[in-house]
Amino acid sequence: MVSATFPVENMSTHPTPIRILGTNATASIAEVLATHMNAKQLLLVCDDTTWEAAGAHVESFLNSQCNIRVQSLGSSVRPSLALAQEIAASAAGADALLAVGSGTINDLTKYAAALADKPYAVVATAATMNGYTAANASLEHDGHKQSMPARPPVFVLGDTATLSAAPKRLMRAGLGDTLCRTTVEADMLLSHHLFGTPYPRELFDVLRRHETALLAGSMTERYDEALFIASLFEALLDAGDAMTAFGSSAPASQGEHMIAHTLELKYGSELHHLMHGELIAITALTMSQFQHRVLLSAPTLRSMPYSLEDFGRLFGKSHAEALANAYAKKFITPEQADEINAKMPAIWPEISQVLAAIMLPTNTLERALIHSGVTTKPDQAGIDLERYRFATSYAHLTRDRFTFLDLAAMGVKRIH
Ligand SMILES: [Zn+2]
Repeated sequence: MVSATFPVENMSTHPTPIRILGTNATASIAEVLATHMNAKQLLLVCDDTTWEAAGAHVESFLNSQCNIRVQSLGSSVRPSLALAQEIAASAAGADALLAVGSGTINDLTKYAAALADKPYAVVATAATMNGYTAANASLEHDGHKQSMPARPPVFVLGDTATLSAAPKRLMRAGLGDTLCRTTVEADMLLSHHLFGTPYPRELFDVLRRHETALLAGSMTERYDEALFIASLFEALLDAGDAMTAFGSSAPASQGEHMIAHTLELKYGSELHHLMHGELIAITALTMSQFQHRVLLSAPTLRSMPYSLEDFGRLFGKSHAEALANAYAKKFITPEQADEINAKMPAIWPEISQVLAAIMLPTNTLERALIHSGVTTKPDQAGIDLERYRFATSYAHLTRDRFTFLDLAAMGVKRIH
């Protein structure tokens, strides 16, 4: 197991990363670095694109202050564990690492810094995903993505001019990974009311802060793009901070991410053309439709035992044990199901009212995504519909989080 090479730690013990934001934030990088990292030898990690977008600019501001070694990873970088290990090895002579990039570069550098036990910071080049401030890194190993424990950056620098110049597709993906707040919160709140699992209301209050501006900006022809990008970027940073504060990805990843992960687990090599947030935009819409449908119904829980062989048959033998163990943590016995079902007529009207208050209407979510040019249907994104149906039907078996996917599997209604 890879995780054994790096001990799992409680993410909530990490300090919140410092945010350096603004229209000309890059110009302050020398001062920021001197104040917060004091690195004399710096390893700057980028790829060809992010070097052009910001790396060269950053280096020019820093080269009188410290020795910078640039490690450019070329033109088509995969976030592989092996590459992160290589970067960690080449950071041997450095005091700190500086990632210049977005998802892949940030994940690689974050994990390399953790392996090398050195601080790192990131200069963001796109508002495209919420992993900038998160403690964990998402890397490929054994053919699929895994979340590896690492540490958040010391600071995140987001220059609005750089973020606005990034390809619009990256921003669209960021919007998908942000607006899924509605389905994430509904899943966590459902589980909280049925089973008493934690529900971090104050973190979600923060995550909803930028939503009005994002929805309004998404649905208007004429809007202030710099303001929209700045709101989106802050919303993404908030989500990363929320994950670190909560100690897991739960406040940013529930049923919609489980569908996406199931697709990646089963058909990952066919999905390389899609960015994470593009996939989440699609799966969040599926979850939203289903959640609203269930709210109007009278769900009944039932115990659903699955054998190790079932997991092997559905997901492959190499994943069976880990998935079965995760599922066992939320397994509901027939007695527990009976107990909750007996209470359901009394508690469900209140639960559905509380949930409805924090959920976006599906058509609000859909219109915001469509108006921003985000693909909202699996077949339009090149995902085979049979495969998508498989993922929605069995995604509940892939994590210990109880979500609306479990209600779907219990027979409330087939969700796609
Ligand atoms: Zn995500």
